[in-house]
Amino acid sequence: MKKRVAVIGYGGQGAWHCGQVLKSDVCELAGTYDIREVRREAAKANGIFVYENNEAIFADKTVDIIVVATPNDVHEDLVVNGLKSGHNVVCEKPVALSVEEFDRMCAAAKESGKVFTAHQNRRWDVDFRAVKQVIGSGEIGEVLRIESRIHGSRGIPSDWRCHKAPGGGMILDWGVHLIDQMLQLIPEKVTGVNCVCTNITNDEVDDGFRLELDFESGKTAHVEVGTYNFIAMPRFYMQCKDGSLYLTDWQQKAHVARLTAWCEKDVTPVQNAAGITKTMAPRDELTLDEYDIERLTSDVHEYYRNLCAAIDGKAEIIVKLPEVRRVLSVMEACFASNEAHQTLKVDI
Ligand code: NAD
Repeated sequence: MKKRVAVIGYGGQGAWHCGQVLKSDVCELAGTYDIREVRREAAKANGIFVYENNEAIFADKTVDIIVVATPNDVHEDLVVNGLKSGHNVVCEKPVALSVEEFDRMCAAAKESGKVFTAHQNRRWDVDFRAVKQVIGSGEIGEVLRIESRIHGSRGIPSDWRCHKAPGGGMILDWGVHLIDQMLQLIPEKVTGVNCVCTNITNDEVDDGFRLELDFESGKTAHVEVGTYNFIAMPRFYMQCKDGSLYLTDWQQKAHVARLTAWCEKDVTPVQNAAGITKTMAPRDELTLDEYDIERLTSDVHEYYRNLCAAIDGKAEIIVKLPEVRRVLSVMEACFASNEAHQTLKVDI
C-alpha cells in the first residue's frame, strides 16, 4: 500500500515535494498546510487538500510521513512535533541551524522509534554521480584533490535566504549540498577547515564562500559557492594519482584524462611570447588517454522509494543521521573559521 505523505510549508520546495509525491509509485499525497493564506489558496487551486493547521497534520493518524519544507529556523519544532505525534519525518536541508539543535531532533527520533532523515536530494545529481563513479572504478587512481564549485550571477535571492534569523546565507543553502557530496566522495575524517565568506550583495549573511578541507590521509578539497560570478568556474575538477577529471557544468559530460605511461620523450617545448617551457607542455596521445564519461541517468523518485522501504524495515536509509550531523559540524566550523580568519584543526 502507498504511504500517505503530508507536506508542511507550500512554498517553492513544499510544492515540489507535493508534485513528486503525486507522481510517486510508492507514496500518495494526503495534503499540505502553509501559514500564508496565499500559499494555501495556491495549493487548493492545484487540487491539493489543505489542512486547517499543522496540528491537524500531527493529529492525522492516516499520515505515514510528514515532510517539513519551511524556512530553516522553524524546522526543529515541526520535526520534533511530527516525531512525537508518531510520524516518520523528512526534513528539508539544512535540517538544523546547529549541531545542538540537530541532536535534540535526533533524541526525539530515537524516543519515537520512527524514521527521521534529511532531504539531501543532491546525492542523486548526475554530475556528482559521474565523479563518484570515476573514483569508484579506480580508472584514474587514488584521489589527491577535488574541487567542487557552483557559480551563479544574480546575487543572493531576496527572500528569507538573505536574512540571518530564518537561516539564510549560502553556506546553509548550497554549502550543505556540496559539503554533503564532498564527504561522500572523500569518506575520511576531516582534519582542517578554512572558510572565507563573501558579502558582495548582502551584509547580513554570506552570499558565497570558499572552503578548504583537509582530510586525514592528506587528500584536500575545495568547495565554493558564488552568487556574483559572471563567468562560472568548472563544476568539478579532480586530480588523482593516474589522471584528472574536469566537468564544466551539470549539463555536460565529465571529461577524463588518464595517464597511460610516464615518459618524457614526447615533450615538445611550448613557445609563448616571453619564452619556452617544457614543464608546462601538454601531454599527447602517447602518454594520455582522453575520453568523456556518458551522462548518467538518475531517478529522483529513488529518494521516496528508499524512504518507504526503510520505514518497512526492508532497506537501509540512504541519507543517514550521522552523515547529516557531520555536514552540520563542518558548516559550524566554516562559520568559526571565517570569524577567526584562520584554519581550524578539527576532528569531524
Ligand atoms: P519558501 O519561502 O518558498 O517556502 C517556505 C514556505 O513555508 C512559505 O510558504 C511559508 O509561508 C511556509 N511556512 C513558514 N513557516 C511555516 C510553518 N510554521 N508552518 C507551515 N508553513 C510555514 O522556501 P523554500 O525555497 O520552499 O525553502 C523551504 C525549505 O526547503 C528550506 O529549508 C530550504 O533550504 C529547502 N529547500 C531545499 C531544496 C532542495 O533541493 N533540497 C531546494 C529549495 C529549498
